[in-house]
Amino acid sequence: MDIRHQITDLQLVHPFKIARRAVDRFRQVISVELDSGLGETAPAKFYGETVETVQRALEIFDPFLNGNLDAIQAIMDTLESTMRGNYAAKSAIDMALHDRLGKVLGVPLYRLWGLDPNETPCTSFTIGLDEPEMMQQKVREASEYPILKVKLGTSHDLEIIRTLREVTDKPIYVDANTAWTPKEAVRKIRELVPYGIELIEQPTHPDDLEGLKFVREHSELPIIADESVKRATDIPALVGCVDGVNIKLVKCGGLLEAMRIIHVARAHGLQIMIGCMIESSLGITAAAHLTPLVDYADLDGHLLIANDPYSGVRLEAGKLILPKRPGIGVIPRDPSNLEA
Ligand code: MG
Repeated sequence: MDIRHQITDLQLVHPFKIARRAVDRFRQVISVELDSGLGETAPAKFYGETVETVQRALEIFDPFLNGNLDAIQAIMDTLESTMRGNYAAKSAIDMALHDRLGKVLGVPLYRLWGLDPNETPCTSFTIGLDEPEMMQQKVREASEYPILKVKLGTSHDLEIIRTLREVTDKPIYVDANTAWTPKEAVRKIRELVPYGIELIEQPTHPDDLEGLKFVREHSELPIIADESVKRATDIPALVGCVDGVNIKLVKCGGLLEAMRIIHVARAHGLQIMIGCMIESSLGITAAAHLTPLVDYADLDGHLLIANDPYSGVRLEAGKLILPKRPGIGVIPRDPSNLEA
């Protein structure tokens, strides 16, 4: 089997900024084709992966994709024992295998898993860090989305939320992207409570589970781990430290592992958020098929780009509407209709 792959520059509608990183104008994704299956990944340096490491991993994995492509679990187990980590690369392969299997069987992924497509939640829409006036402008532009996610982790976090509350009364999720110390987090969360915040994502350093526990014990708002959780095996250590976990396909290695995290987290009484990187409709739609199983969806990566090569999952008043086509169910977008 030859895994064909392609690198695409996604152009961002707004340059994007979070606590630990400067502004980006483009983000690269890698799409793969395996038989009739399509997959995509968006490697993150934070997790030690780049376009180059993904390309290298795809070369190494290629010889293991010659057998029965229906046997996704066996294939993913083989890749895991061949090379540790490289979960962004594994995610692209896992996604393409699922897309292919759905197409072979003629069913969309949600049906393959026995999920009810009417049970999807609304997605949040992310407002990246910027000058407060610019963030207000982004909130106005997000009028069609019923839930906002605001990136914090600055010296003026409270001012940002106060400023945004002048222009919106929508539910707000806050993501500090590891920027706060535990004590700072407790103080800031206390200040944020009166502003109608629904949850706090990753307030502190990913490895500081005691810090997360301290924040959780001293805060009224649910604490959701993102950078602290990658795989299902990370879940037991997080029990008692957080209220929920944010799953991303490129962190965990694909749909099969994401499903495993969901079940392990549920068994430990945790809430589930499913999130994303900046990805095209291909990666976002794959993740969206899992959303009948989650409490919170943060699947807006494709809404932040101007040149989405695919169309797939749609939104109706923020609710995720899954395509009924077989597999992931995306189709290429007519390039002449691209905004950029
Ligand atoms: Mg996050």
